[in-house]
Amino acid sequence: MARLNLAAAALAIACYINPSNAFVAPIQTTKTFGLNVATADETFASEGAKKQVGNDSFLNENLMARAQNGPGIKNKEKLKIGVIGAGLAGMVAAMDLADAGHEVEMFETRPFVGGKVSSWQDKEGNHIEMGLHVFFGCYYNLFGIMKRTGGFDENLRIKQHIHTFVNEGGKLGSLDFQFPIGAPVSGLQAFAKTEQLGLEDKFHNAVRLGTSPIVRALVDFDGGMDMVRELDDITFTEWFTQLGGKRGSLDRMWDAIAYALGFIDCNNISARAMLTIFMLFTIRTEASVLRMLDGSPQTGLHDPIIKYLEDRDVKINLGTPCREIVHDVDDEGKPTRIKGIKVGGTQEYKEFDVVVAACDVPGIKKVLPESFRKYDQFDKIYNLDCVPIATVQVRFDGWVTELHDEMRMMNVAGDQSDGRGAGIDNLLYSVDAEFSCFADLAITSPGEYYKEGEGSLIQAVFDERATSRSNDQLVKDCIEQLNKLFPSSKKLNCTWSNVVKLGQSLYREKVGQDKFRPAQATPIPNFFLAGSYTYQDYLDSMEGATRSGLMVADEIIARADGPNGLAAMSKKAKVEEKESDEVPFFLSSA
Ligand SMILES: Cc1cc2nc3c(=O)[nH]c(=O)nc-3n(C[C@H](O)[C@H](O)[C@H](O)COP(=O)(O)OP(=O)(O)OC[C@H]3O[C@@H](n4cnc5c(N)ncnc54)[C@H](O)[C@@H]3O)c2cc1C
Repeated sequence: MARLNLAAAALAIACYINPSNAFVAPIQTTKTFGLNVATADETFASEGAKKQVGNDSFLNENLMARAQNGPGIKNKEKLKIGVIGAGLAGMVAAMDLADAGHEVEMFETRPFVGGKVSSWQDKEGNHIEMGLHVFFGCYYNLFGIMKRTGGFDENLRIKQHIHTFVNEGGKLGSLDFQFPIGAPVSGLQAFAKTEQLGLEDKFHNAVRLGTSPIVRALVDFDGGMDMVRELDDITFTEWFTQLGGKRGSLDRMWDAIAYALGFIDCNNISARAMLTIFMLFTIRTEASVLRMLDGSPQTGLHDPIIKYLEDRDVKINLGTPCREIVHDVDDEGKPTRIKGIKVGGTQEYKEFDVVVAACDVPGIKKVLPESFRKYDQFDKIYNLDCVPIATVQVRFDGWVTELHDEMRMMNVAGDQSDGRGAGIDNLLYSVDAEFSCFADLAITSPGEYYKEGEGSLIQAVFDERATSRSNDQLVKDCIEQLNKLFPSSKKLNCTWSNVVKLGQSLYREKVGQDKFRPAQATPIPNFFLAGSYTYQDYLDSMEGATRSGLMVADEIIARADGPNGLAAMSKKAKVEEKESDEVPFFLSSA
């Protein structure tokens, strides 16, 4: 067994070290003619925004300093900027725009900020989350934002460098990246040693990974990245099985990873989405190190950002949806300029020089006026759709993931705060349950989740296979499936539960979606887009949302001043409007 492990590892290492050893065969893909790096470059007014996409940006640790220090520019002109949506993207954009000297006001439909990474408290004070969130070690931009707002060291808990799979009957498999030598060797030995795959699958897995664009990226990063981008039009299964990958690896390992990334399986997820993450893991040792918040996203992530914004006079209007974007059109009915937005129940009209729509996919589809679809960039957004998910939280009177010591599993006495509860302190994956990823928050994020005298608080994300069921049924199914994974937990009782269903969560990262993702600047000069669905390399993630927020701010800051800048444009439009209002009606109709 060990021999075959070593053989597989040796083959993969050989392929990694010398790509000419790799079985490089032509990869059957249709080229994506969507927004690729070349076309995106052409649309950038800001060098800063340009730095955020493309091969040079992909693993650029230096971007952390930019996110941490802010834009470092004060615009000469002060713009009045409205931001629709207070998810991460909108809040990050607002931070930079306020720092550049602009007057920023935000409008959020929900009664809390954070969008898909939000949390709130129920009447009994339980913290409810929209979904389970982990931070990859290469979230340089988001870490920079957390350092800037003061929450990085205090609010994130670093986890052991292992990705753990839990199988039926309590059998654990892992990708253990802990190794004296860093990437790619640490990753290779993790795949070679994993108990999650049998010998044959391990061998075929190594062969397939050894022939992947990642190998090329080790010696020719640009070439490897270009290959990954071109794989947006085939599924991961198609790509994986082309050259030696076998179904066993997909079923026992890759499906869990695909579900954890995009809430869809390998037969549906684009190869580009999976390989993007895998590329990160292979090239940077820290990329696969996970961190989780010590408590809820509201406290650990959003409260410091809100304070930062409020200290800079950014007004955040919660429970205040944008209902209409008021705009001018040209003779063909094409929008030319945004004048303002109507917000809230009373449809109050607010005038702005610039508007940023930092919505999610359903939000942007709803808020864009029909006339905007005359532009290709907006029309393409309607091709994106979203996956439904359900987040189930279940509290127990003991420690569910403690598999070895029954006494310890039952013992909830005394102070077991600060992650001292029994069980596994990490994100967990499973292919034997409908929730592909889950964690015991009372251990991983104990801040507000550990309760004295209580045990585990399992948070599990169900994908669309389960979302049509009632909440009660989902809780029942969750407990039953946990019992299957951790047989000893049958002795424990559920003491509290909650279900949050999100009908439209991430954009569906199926094949061919990249070409529909819009850039942050739009054909309407004073209207901008942000959000994780807009184009950046980090797909639909917190880092992606952060990047889009920084990019949109850079684009606005770069365009604000000067004779043809956004401020000048706005002044000119207002003067013209005033003059046309003053023209006697009998002349204006001539
Ligand atoms: C269950 C789940 C688990 C996840 N796990 C991870 C993870 O582990 N790691 C990771 O990196 N990412 C994860 N993600 C993805 C991550 O949460 C998102 O990519 C990111 O939060 C998106 O941020 P955003 O600002 O782009 O959009 P959103 O968070 O969706 O924010 C958009 C905001 O706009 C508001 N809005 C929409 N329309 C209007 C309107 N007309 N007027 C006013 N407001 C409006 C919405 O209410 C929302 O608050 C997960 C997502 C889900 C659903």
